[in-house]
Amino acid sequence: MPQPARQFERSAWPERFAQSAQQSARRFADCRRARNRVLALRRTAVIAAAIGIVLAGLVGLGRFMGVGPFAGHIPEARYSAESWNLTVVNRWHRIPDAYPEPDLTRLRNGEQVDSRIYPDLQRMFDAMRADGLNPEVSAGYRTRATQQRILDEKIEAYWSEGVPRAAARTKALETVAVPGTSEHELGLAVDVNAAGMNDAAANQKVYAWLAEHAAQYGFVLRYPDGGTAVTGVAYEPWHYRYVGVQAASAMCANDLTLEEYAGAM
Ligand SMILES: [Zn+2]
Repeated sequence: MPQPARQFERSAWPERFAQSAQQSARRFADCRRARNRVLALRRTAVIAAAIGIVLAGLVGLGRFMGVGPFAGHIPEARYSAESWNLTVVNRWHRIPDAYPEPDLTRLRNGEQVDSRIYPDLQRMFDAMRADGLNPEVSAGYRTRATQQRILDEKIEAYWSEGVPRAAARTKALETVAVPGTSEHELGLAVDVNAAGMNDAAANQKVYAWLAEHAAQYGFVLRYPDGGTAVTGVAYEPWHYRYVGVQAASAMCANDLTLEEYAGAM
């Protein structure tokens, strides 16, 4: 007599085995998918954190160093029409959007300055010439576009010397201000050298004269030796900034930079 039950049992073994194998394969696949999801989440979190750190770094550089693509977000300098002469523009404070387009006076050599500083500048140059010097304003007012061109040319120069792009920009920014943060864009700053600029001894005489007398005409040595931590710029014996006779005398007498004087006002 045939025994269907036993036959059934025999034939059912492989099937049950197969079912259980499928179940554990499914469980294994589920487990692997879950683990992959966790890994993917972790990867995303790490990438997001890295992007966050890089962005924060760039914003930080832009804000505090005045470099990088976020330099446009450098905070505005304080400005009021009454104390226009004390506007502090530096690597931490850009020219405010409300700063009016300056009314300019053109000098004989083509350089321009804010018309409000022209009478005192002329008096100062008359006095220098009377003392036997032959000075010239080698740089006066600059538009933002000019400042950008000067920066671009400096970067190109380093680049052509083989300095990598990012490093070339950093190096250029050691001596050229970020567009929007140069005092030359205010029209209140002048670079004064001996005419021709090629005679180092003649330049030194001009710088010595200015250091002694410029304050009487309302101009101050804007980036004094040893003042870099406050001004953000290395010593520039040729760069003079108009602040008016009263402020210049007070700054000179108390050995204050514009940052310190205007901050204490
Ligand atoms: Zn200058």
